[in-house]
Amino acid sequence: MGLIFVISAPSGTGKTTICKELGKQMPEFIFSVSYTTRPKRNLEVDSVDYHFINEKTFMKMLKEKEFLEWAEVHGNKYGTSAKFVEVALKSGKDLLLDIDVQGAKKIKNIHKDSVAIFVLPPSIDELKNRLLNRRSNSLAEMEKRLRVASEEIRNSIFYDYVVINDNIQKAVEKIKSIVVAEKHTQNRMRSIISQKYIRKL
Ligand code: ADP
Ligand code: 5GP
Repeated sequence: MGLIFVISAPSGTGKTTICKELGKQMPEFIFSVSYTTRPKRNLEVDSVDYHFINEKTFMKMLKEKEFLEWAEVHGNKYGTSAKFVEVALKSGKDLLLDIDVQGAKKIKNIHKDSVAIFVLPPSIDELKNRLLNRRSNSLAEMEKRLRVASEEIRNSIFYDYVVINDNIQKAVEKIKSIVVAEKHTQNRMRSIISQKYIRKL
């Protein structure tokens, strides 16, 4: 069975940038593409960044229990495909889920051995700069995201790891180290050790 790595961060911290870089450096990782009712931003690609769907389709999928978890974030709905996660895990692949704090808590409840990583900006001023630089949100949107950020940061205590994204390459290196360490904990190695070594001694 594969492992689920959940990454959350206040909007604008750099989570998307980090996940894209992780995807390049760790091609064995599968990125779970969420479904959302949020309008597509300029550079985003449908079915790559998100599956962009309307409210009616989202509600239909919800009714048909197609989401492993879902949440309303910044006024839009987001959901993780249950089928996609199940197929990936059964084929032994590790999954990367870029989801919010509510979603991370739900995933932890369902998959107890999932690993939750919270990414922090170096400061709130830098978070404002990054949101402004991204230019994909209006000023009102940005203020809404900053208000939500303080609540999200309070929730970082529920995560297994906290990584500060001051420098993108360094943040990616830290997350790669977490992945390698988590794949070698006693819990995960026990059955391999017993099958491969102890039985043959
Ligand atoms: P999120 O997915 O968390 O909302 P993005 O990945 O879209 O954030 O990044 C927000 C903005 O911050 C983008 O313009 C991105 O290029 C920039 N950014 C990301 N990481 C860093 C960093 N370590 N230093 C400076 N700018 C960064
Ligand atoms: P954005 O609209 O900026 O891409 O994402 C807004 C927030 O929604 C981010 O915190 C992101 O992690 C979260 N998000 C994206 N997909 C999902 C999902 O499938 N489930 C949940 N719970 N949150 C998601």
